[in-house]
Amino acid sequence: MATRIDGKAIAEERTATIARETAELVAGHGVRPGLAVVIVGEDPASQVYVRNKQRTAERCGFKSVKHALPADVSQNELLGVIGDLNADDSIHGILVQLPLPDGLDETTITQAVLPAKDVDGFHYVNVGKLAAGAVADAFVPCTPAGCMLMIERELGKDLSGKSAVVIGRSNIVGKPMAALLLAANATVTVTHSRTSDLPDVARQADILVAAVGRPNMVGASWIKPGAIVIDVGINRIDVDEGGETRSRLTGDVDFDGAMEVAAAVTPVPGGVGPMTITMLMDNTLRAARLAHGIHA
Ligand code: NAD
Repeated sequence: MATRIDGKAIAEERTATIARETAELVAGHGVRPGLAVVIVGEDPASQVYVRNKQRTAERCGFKSVKHALPADVSQNELLGVIGDLNADDSIHGILVQLPLPDGLDETTITQAVLPAKDVDGFHYVNVGKLAAGAVADAFVPCTPAGCMLMIERELGKDLSGKSAVVIGRSNIVGKPMAALLLAANATVTVTHSRTSDLPDVARQADILVAAVGRPNMVGASWIKPGAIVIDVGINRIDVDEGGETRSRLTGDVDFDGAMEVAAAVTPVPGGVGPMTITMLMDNTLRAARLAHGIHA
């Protein structure tokens, strides 16, 4: 039976460290990290994510501000808000919650955030640094950064000789995940919706990362015995519980099946999700230190 990787516990531990380091930064240098979250419209899932991010920022001792804008805000108004936050010295990290409503161009908006405040790691300067292997210099997108931390805890920082398969090639998860694994010396294969014989490819992986958005797609037969399986997917499905239909979150991996074959598996919920928020705090603390020339 595999180990269930407790992302919630790892995230708690990391958040406590960030809170302690923040208190030291405030006491020693008078610098309090500031995180601004910009949310446009009323998407319920986005509201939940933003609330969780703000709550964690407050627990870390950060200054936390939220700009909630109506769904019909113009692109120029939104760019104006970002411009003000770019110029605000008390704000070190800016996060624009995605997806944005129709009519707003996500690329224009994410590229308007100063690279030094781009704690989501979406600005092309940070994307380029990561692609060039300058990981320590980049703000890395929070979800793959969190996955990497869990992989390191299982296998160490040097993944030489390990084969890694990433399912999904999005800019937010799949591609940066592959770049991080490559930077850690893994031999990386990126797969996607046009990949043939995906189960055969997946079965070669010592490290298998699923970031697709298809419930329970990765079955036990896709997993190499002893592999580390990281399930990024978040899918809402209806399940029958005692004759009642209930909505439940599930990942891209058949968790019970994977637990029979793998060495370690992340659950959904309680795996990658909590790590994502913690890495946002990690990036914000780092942005605050860098803005003031302070070394950790
Ligand atoms: P996306 O839709 O941008 O990308 C999905 C990728 O999956 C694409 O590259 C596509 O080629 C690939 N794909 C689709 N169908 C496939 C198939 N049948 N076989 C192989 N590959 C296939 O999604 P995303 O933003 O990368 O997110 C992926 C999943 O991760 C979603 O469920 C999302 O909700 C979740 N997610 C979770 C977190 C977290 O914090 N836990 C963060 C971001 C995304």
